[in-house]
Amino acid sequence: MSVKIPPISIGYVIAIVLVLLSIPVVFVVDVYLTPWQLPTKILYAIPVMVAARIFGTLAAAIVIVIAVSFSILEAIAVENDIQGEVLAVLALLIVSALSLAWAQAERKSAALADERARLHEQEARRAAELEESRARLLEFFSLVAHDLKGPLTTVSGFAQMLPRWDTLPESQRERMLGSLQSSVRTIVRLSNDLSDASLIGTGRFAVEKNRRDLVALCKEIMGQRQLAAPKHCLILNAQDEPLEIQCDQDRIAQAIGNLVDNAIKYSPEGGKVQAMVERVGDYARVAVSDEGIGIAPEDIPRLFYPYARVRQASGVKGLGLGLYIVKGIVEAHGGTISVQSEMGRGSTFIIDLPLTDPP
Ligand code: ADP
Repeated sequence: MSVKIPPISIGYVIAIVLVLLSIPVVFVVDVYLTPWQLPTKILYAIPVMVAARIFGTLAAAIVIVIAVSFSILEAIAVENDIQGEVLAVLALLIVSALSLAWAQAERKSAALADERARLHEQEARRAAELEESRARLLEFFSLVAHDLKGPLTTVSGFAQMLPRWDTLPESQRERMLGSLQSSVRTIVRLSNDLSDASLIGTGRFAVEKNRRDLVALCKEIMGQRQLAAPKHCLILNAQDEPLEIQCDQDRIAQAIGNLVDNAIKYSPEGGKVQAMVERVGDYARVAVSDEGIGIAPEDIPRLFYPYARVRQASGVKGLGLGLYIVKGIVEAHGGTISVQSEMGRGSTFIIDLPLTDPP
């Protein structure tokens, strides 16, 4: 049995003193002030009841022992008949036992009420989380619809122009073909992101691993991105020799590419974006850093949740699925992803991938 020691306060100490003092007081009243010692013996039950309610089982048991001892002492002092004394002590013990049971039942029901309140609070918190997630999902639907609207309008405009295609000047045809290709790319990327996110979310995301050199892969990604973002300065810091890992090359390229795209997207033109590839123990590490807007500390915990767009990025386009997919890819390889960021100074996303295939 564990004994709960309540916090000691002045009120608590006063209560202990009063309970303990009341026993000799009953003794004095019984022995010197009333002619009917036996019936007034029941007064000893009062401190026992108080102790049972306020201090708990152990303290009440101590008070019962003291009260019974005084009662026996009193019997010796006044020399009452023995049968009456035994009955009085028995009555005292029965009343004490009932008080203890009552106090314990009250404590149990208070604990049950506390538990019920805790569960209620937990339920309310869950309901709030569910509501927040529902609101985010609805916002996400509207973002998807909005992102689809632009390219679909272009495609439908193109379809309407098709009957007059031959009559259009060459320069306009080229412009239209360019924007058609870019619109189709946007739609395909959107559809791929949605499909990847759904595979990750339902645990059906699979990777096909082969031995690949991470250094060569990063070189290729940085080269491609530099062409697409000529106003940014992309730098690769990697060892000269290859760093081979077991991985699904396309998926790892997608993950690293996404981090580099974000670094470009969330930093100003002319900003420096660095990728570092190195071996750290049994892991291959890829760290992508930028000198961009940074991420607020309170936003970091939800960064890798689906559709987690954070406040300061509201001016930049995106669905908030990218990092969720990156995390899914990294975890499918037995790796981890983490982030360090400072508002207004930039962010570093770090991927650690095991060098050997995890079991
Ligand atoms: P998206 O960029 O499509 O919104 P992501 O999942 O890639 O989705 O990113 C989620 C959020 O994380 C972004 O909306 C942005 O606020 C923040 N974020 C990601 N990368 C960076 C970065 N390099 N710098 C600042 N914020 C970032």
